[in-house]
Amino acid sequence: MKTGFLAQPSEEQRQTMIKLAHEYGYCVAEIDFEKSWKNIPVADCKNHAGKFWEERHKDSVRKGSRIFFSSGGSTGQPKYTLLNFSEVEQNSAIHGKGYRACGVLPSDVVATWGTPGIMSSEFTVYLALSHTGACILPIGDTSDPKSIIEIIRNFNASVLLVMPSDLSPIIALIEASGERLDNVRLIITGGEPLYEADEQRFRSFFSPKIVFRSVFQTSDTGTIGYQCPCCERGEYHVHDSLQILEIDNQDEQGVGDLVTTNLGRKLVPIVRVKTGDRVFEIPEKCACGISSPRIRFLGRSGRICKVGGEKFDLNRLNEIKEALTLPVDDFQITLSREEGLDQFTLLSNRVVQDSSLQEQAKNIFDNISQKLSTQLSRGVIRPLKFLALDRTNVVLSPSGKFVSFRDTRGI
Ligand SMILES: [Zn+2]
Repeated sequence: MKTGFLAQPSEEQRQTMIKLAHEYGYCVAEIDFEKSWKNIPVADCKNHAGKFWEERHKDSVRKGSRIFFSSGGSTGQPKYTLLNFSEVEQNSAIHGKGYRACGVLPSDVVATWGTPGIMSSEFTVYLALSHTGACILPIGDTSDPKSIIEIIRNFNASVLLVMPSDLSPIIALIEASGERLDNVRLIITGGEPLYEADEQRFRSFFSPKIVFRSVFQTSDTGTIGYQCPCCERGEYHVHDSLQILEIDNQDEQGVGDLVTTNLGRKLVPIVRVKTGDRVFEIPEKCACGISSPRIRFLGRSGRICKVGGEKFDLNRLNEIKEALTLPVDDFQITLSREEGLDQFTLLSNRVVQDSSLQEQAKNIFDNISQKLSTQLSRGVIRPLKFLALDRTNVVLSPSGKFVSFRDTRGI
């Protein structure tokens, strides 16, 4: 299995990397830089910061303003990271460069969803937008689509910064009333993929010139990439002045796990941390003229995926199977996209035939996690659906094995 840098770090970047590695507890030699760099174990983003944030929090009380972020929850244990405010500002300035490349202009009014808090780095979005010169329209609370539509209209928003799952309830409402939001010319998504079917569906409700773009950042590792006008679905330019990216465990096609080192994170270093995404490098130079490397995303690695815009641990679906004590081949769950919303479907002859089992499965599903039940009540995911599992609809793996879970959203 091959591992390699996406772009060779410059001499100056190497010096920063050596210092970060030292902070992280590893020695990287200048003479044999690449080899000794690869001796640093690749960390799982689940727990890399754990050993740092507590001691750094105590250590650095008088060293300026700091802020906590958490992106945990989906795997049980919350995970925190701690940033100096100067780190936040540096990250946001670079993230703002991504918004400009996506097409945000000083003349725009940008409506942005989400509420700042420990679980969200939303306020870094405001800081990033300040680098575009555009007017910021913070939507905040996402629970009332009707008032959001009014705000978009009243303030003539021309750009929406939104997760596809948060846009779906808005679209449903304007579709029902036969209206459009003609002033909106650019939609920048993030947090989850924008599936082609959703984009086609959204398209007719905005300006005929509507353009969809996306940015990529995580609370754990900072801003990573953005789409220029030439980027296709799932393709991103990389912020190569901030992120040193590696693709680990590459297969013959060069597809592997995205691993990042953030040169701007010094308080809690981000050194060789997996983002949980499968990617490959696009070898061709981009027609837009920007020379930074480009990557194409091929989905999440492991068992964590985005459902209704939030991270969800697929292992938790086993709780249904265990509670109903179903044999494996009597049970398949699919995750599909229906009218812009994520839909779990449980395929099982036994559950379909037995209404009390259906009731039980539904109750377990609704209560698997606080997050899932909140999403259900907000209507950003659809309730569990039941289908009979039979020869016509069971899908086996390419090697002919029964699979207990399938994600068909990108297909
Ligand atoms: Zn480009």
